[in-house]
Amino acid sequence: MTEAFRYLFLGALALTLILKLWLGLRHIRHIARHRARVPAEFADAITLQQHQHAADYSMAKTRLGLLSSCIDTALIAGLTLGGALDWLARQISGLALGEIGSGLLLVVALTLLTSAISLPISLYSTFRIEARFGFNKMTLTMFVLDAIKGSAIGALIGLPLLALVLWLMAQAGPLWWLWVWLVWSAFQLLMVALYPTLIAPLFNRFQPLEDLALKQRIEALLARTGFTSQGVFVMDGSRRSSHGNAYFTGFGSAKRIVFFDTLLKQLSAEEIEAVLAHELGHFKRKHIVKRIGFAFALSLGFLFILGQLLHAGWFYQALGVSTPSTAMALILFFLAVPAFTFPLTPLSSLLSRRHEYEADEFAASQSDAHHLVAALVKLYRDNASTLTPDPLHSAFYDSHPPASLRIAHLQGARP
Ligand SMILES: [Zn+2]
Repeated sequence: MTEAFRYLFLGALALTLILKLWLGLRHIRHIARHRARVPAEFADAITLQQHQHAADYSMAKTRLGLLSSCIDTALIAGLTLGGALDWLARQISGLALGEIGSGLLLVVALTLLTSAISLPISLYSTFRIEARFGFNKMTLTMFVLDAIKGSAIGALIGLPLLALVLWLMAQAGPLWWLWVWLVWSAFQLLMVALYPTLIAPLFNRFQPLEDLALKQRIEALLARTGFTSQGVFVMDGSRRSSHGNAYFTGFGSAKRIVFFDTLLKQLSAEEIEAVLAHELGHFKRKHIVKRIGFAFALSLGFLFILGQLLHAGWFYQALGVSTPSTAMALILFFLAVPAFTFPLTPLSSLLSRRHEYEADEFAASQSDAHHLVAALVKLYRDNASTLTPDPLHSAFYDSHPPASLRIAHLQGARP
């Protein structure tokens, strides 16, 4: 069993990396081949220079993504079969901190190690790629402050939660995985409820929307679609990046609508209304509830599997660890699972793209499809999103349909 699982894991890890490299290289080649000419349907809205800017940006990001995939794969192999995790666990067990104490220390040490290894990629992405293409607004000081704040909040929330999970794993009997699932699900819901008012304001400033004409337009749309929210806010996204966005947070009547200030600058009032109508479509078609339900079901399935592996010696040995423990089971599971689930990525992408079409249809019925098309073209242009993704890469990864298909669909839906 041990040998068989070790080879299965190695095979899955290698296959995942090969698949990622193949898709990424295809994507880069496809974009390069279509770099010389703006696709005909965008020719009057996007200049050749803007098209090439988007092509170069997409290729640079994809290249960095490929490098990052190689590093991640090497890291996972080194931690497991390379024996790094086993070595780390042996050092910590010498400190005699007890099951939960050493479990927490192991997770913290691993988090620090992986963050240190991914730091150069993150720095390069922000201060080289994003800066070169004119998107980055962050200074190194902000980057460091964000990292410190993020780690402090992560530790404050994550460590007690992890301690509780490790305690349940050790003490709650054979159905511990069910208890952990309940705790995890409750925690997720609590975060959805608390994030907008407690955590997000630590990183950004949120102010009520002041533009009265736009506010009235938005309130008319909300009334028309029977939507209740706790207000429309503008977030100072421009502090970090010139990429624009809009989103909803919260639950029930405590929902908040948040616009990045960058988005408000990019779009006209009619276009903002159309984008908001699309976001409302996600709520009205119950996409959010479906997504959360799906995530809960998936985590229950994974925890059940972990429940079967917790006391299986072969699972630890196959992944290069000599001494089983609850924290080690969690870590190995999180390291090994993505290698097996990566080939399923297209299924979740397909589901997500179907939801995007449904939200577009809703927007077309409640607002003007013409304005949504105009908004999309502007967003593609200003965010330098490529108009010519490799079709296979897009089918595999993309949560949103390619621009040309999405616009064609909206034009078909136009009443
Ligand atoms: Zn959407």
